[in-house]
Amino acid sequence: MPTLTPMSSPSSGDTTAHDGRATTLSGERGAGKAPREVAASLAAARRRVAAAAEHAGRSPGDVTLVVVTKSFGADAVRVLLDAGQVDIGESRAQELNAKRGETAGARWHFVGRLQRNKVRDVVGATTLIHSVDRAELATEIGDRASRQGLVQRVLVQVNAGGDPAKAGCAPDEAAALVRRIRATPGIACTGLMTIPPAGVDAGPVFARLRALRDDLGRRYPEVQSLSMGMSGDVEEAVAEGATIVRLGRAVLGARPDDAGHDGGRTARTEESER
Ligand SMILES: *Cc1c(COP(=O)(O)O)cnc(C)c1O
Repeated sequence: MPTLTPMSSPSSGDTTAHDGRATTLSGERGAGKAPREVAASLAAARRRVAAAAEHAGRSPGDVTLVVVTKSFGADAVRVLLDAGQVDIGESRAQELNAKRGETAGARWHFVGRLQRNKVRDVVGATTLIHSVDRAELATEIGDRASRQGLVQRVLVQVNAGGDPAKAGCAPDEAAALVRRIRATPGIACTGLMTIPPAGVDAGPVFARLRALRDDLGRRYPEVQSLSMGMSGDVEEAVAEGATIVRLGRAVLGARPDDAGHDGGRTARTEESER
């Protein structure tokens, strides 16, 4: 049965024709799902998000689903695109570029830690960078975007759970960062993003991000979006007003590089650019 290819696996061999394209067969690691399973998981994830929205008295259309394909190959992106899923998330610049080169039609979201020296790879290539957490990064993005004659939309990532292991500015630094972005040409902040710490109740963390967005949004009306909610906590996030949710495992299954993840909501791996 054809399965999705891990990013790191050799792409040679084991290919077979499948509706006009080469489909890589399962490797020894058994990572990934068959395309049909992915389409079914995607439909289930959409139902899950829609049900959470309805439960919260919100319109399902107000929540954008981004499917995070990190550590899966371009074939995963193609399967998603075929199923009508165009919002795709990546957390490493190199993977983003590799998959962008091999696919067409995706709207890319950068959700990982971003180093300044990778900014050039991400600006202009993404509809939204979710992870701006410091002024130097904002300046670099603005410079690069201005040179390309565009305005890069970003979210400010806030460490709303106060987890020392997580990226993001402190909640009380967010307003200054938003103001800094507003004063910088080539970059616009359209909302906030957070990743809750592992092992805590995510609801209060999401509520904190929402309160911060409400506060900032009153002063800076372009600050609207709330990117929060992953496979383990999407219901809580939608209940607290998420407008963008980022699902990986719920759609694609365990990642090829998942080391002993617990299969539950505490497995919040944050990919970094090191
Ligand atoms: C990997 C990742 C996700 C998806 O996580 P899942 O638990 O697989 O749904 C979402 N957001 C960020 C920032 C990520 O790095």
